[in-house]
Amino acid sequence: MSAAPEISVVIPLYNEVENVEDLCRELKAALDPIGRTYEVLLVDDGSKDGTGKRALELAKSEPTLKVLRLRRNFGQTAAFSAGFDHARGKVVVTSDGDLQNDPKDIGPLLAKLDEGDGYDIVCGWRKNRHDPLSKKIPSFFANRLISWATGVEIHDYGCSLKVLRADVVKGIRLYGEMHRFIPAVASSMGVRVAEVVVNHRPRTRGVSKYGIGRTTRVLLDLFTVKFFMTYGTRPAHLFGLFGLLFGAVGFGILSYLAFIRLFADQSIGSRPLLFFGGLSFLTGILLVNFGLMAELLMRTYHESQNKPIYVLKTDDR
Ligand code: UDP
Ligand code: MG
Repeated sequence: MSAAPEISVVIPLYNEVENVEDLCRELKAALDPIGRTYEVLLVDDGSKDGTGKRALELAKSEPTLKVLRLRRNFGQTAAFSAGFDHARGKVVVTSDGDLQNDPKDIGPLLAKLDEGDGYDIVCGWRKNRHDPLSKKIPSFFANRLISWATGVEIHDYGCSLKVLRADVVKGIRLYGEMHRFIPAVASSMGVRVAEVVVNHRPRTRGVSKYGIGRTTRVLLDLFTVKFFMTYGTRPAHLFGLFGLLFGAVGFGILSYLAFIRLFADQSIGSRPLLFFGGLSFLTGILLVNFGLMAELLMRTYHESQNKPIYVLKTDDR
């Protein structure tokens, strides 16, 4: 196998047969002048239109081109994951493969990565985005919500064009639609994130693979990510807190009812409060137990794969 290149460009492709050739040409024109060794990993995400075959043909005459083919359509996040697992460069570039991202921006993003003391992730910001309003409006709110919830203030979570250090990206497992949360998840590991305005072009060939349904999936993923970022290694704190609250309310109510039954001789059997107090107390106990279960699962997760709860700094920047 040839020596590892400095940069690995990872591009997911799903039914992009009309774009793949121009994409490779534009990538080559943008990457060659940078003067660093690179590989381009085209990940065919189970396309049915011959994208994978076309990519393989192109790879025959272009040694920097590698093609990974997923057996079926696993989704963009899985396609990125496959690319990351096979990337050999110390720096990973991600981009969409529909020519909406402009490969010419890769140079400036790479330059930003090494600026000053250096960053770990540089995200593209499609300031002048060429997509229909039905995408831009949900995106506007999603970006603000994600920034607020995760504390990582970037303008454009949805932009695929990013440059990342390989050690960061290889330490993150991705699920669902989570590739957009890489900067947020990574920042909880203590990485430095920067942002650069990039060009964005309308889609001229092929069709968008996403509709409005993506918004709900992104929101649900945000919920998961937020949970993992804050309580991933200590779930009992979250469930325990609610458990104690419910338990205390239930205990208070039941104590009050016991008091008036025993000392004021009132009947309590038909009071709705009895039902509520009992339910609240039980909920409290169950939530505390749930927290302990989650704690067991979390430990199994970390210890079974020797995954520490901290992240070491691996460079001398
Ligand atoms: N994509 C993919 N698998 C999917 C859906 C999309 O690999 O299941 C790729 C797609 O080929 C493109 C990129 O992800 O290169 C972004 O998709 P798209 O342009 O449809 O998203 P939009 O720009 O409309 O948000
Ligand atoms: Mg697109």
